[in-house]
Amino acid sequence: MNNKVSFNNWLTDLNAEQPFVIAGPCSAETPEQVLEIAHAIKGNVSVFRAGIWKPRTRPGGFEGVGAIGLKWLQQVKKETGMLLAIEVATAEHVRLALEYDIDVLWIGARTTVNPFAVQEIADALQNTHKVVLIKNPVNPDLSLWIGGVERLQNAGIKKLGLVHRGFSTYEKTNYRNVPEWQIAIDIKEKFPHIPLICDPSHITGNRNKVEEVAQQALDLHFDGLMIETHTHPDEAWSDAAQQVTPEQLLDIMGRLQIRDVNQ
Ligand code: PEP
Ligand code: MN
Repeated sequence: MNNKVSFNNWLTDLNAEQPFVIAGPCSAETPEQVLEIAHAIKGNVSVFRAGIWKPRTRPGGFEGVGAIGLKWLQQVKKETGMLLAIEVATAEHVRLALEYDIDVLWIGARTTVNPFAVQEIADALQNTHKVVLIKNPVNPDLSLWIGGVERLQNAGIKKLGLVHRGFSTYEKTNYRNVPEWQIAIDIKEKFPHIPLICDPSHITGNRNKVEEVAQQALDLHFDGLMIETHTHPDEAWSDAAQQVTPEQLLDIMGRLQIRDVNQ
């Protein structure tokens, strides 16, 4: 997994390898935790992710450390040189993310379902040069995902990316969120120039299945991966079962294959 290719989009500016990898913990927990994880993956990963605002389906879970985490992430960038990615769910999150020079902002699945929320974020980001990723909505609704992209495009945002993180279902399945790969294929067809990134962590909900889904995504010519990574995954404050260790991440990246890239 080490062949450099030229992407004709913002990935070119990042000088990203193919596939482009974003990794880091589900949530920022402490200053020491983000630094430890970042130092363990720097050099192998383009962008460091860590959620500081965590919209949870039900109350009572860990909802993120909040704005204080921005200072910790600045330190991550200072010490490792990695680019930073966080989730934004409100205009105020966007304002703070821009103030702290966060490089990549992503809109989470629970926000993409709400057109007013996406519009508020798009307005706050108007004409930004930052990279903005939009995850699919939690439900398998292609139009809602397309609508979110259009709202961001209409706000003059040029560096867009799509993140496929699977879809909720009431059925019992092998995965936390079913991939419904056809929806990802269809959105790529609609927006062929927007990079498509797979999040196998939230699809599987299980660290032992992350690699198989990541490989399926690469076989479908996805441009990148977002993989939750934690130095002590079992003790993580959110999404413990799906986070891999930095060692596991590097093993997975070493085994992933880019097949039939020209087809
Ligand atoms: C996350 O990335 O940690 C997250 C909450 O993801 P999603 O919006 O895909 O559920
Ligand atoms: Mn998570």
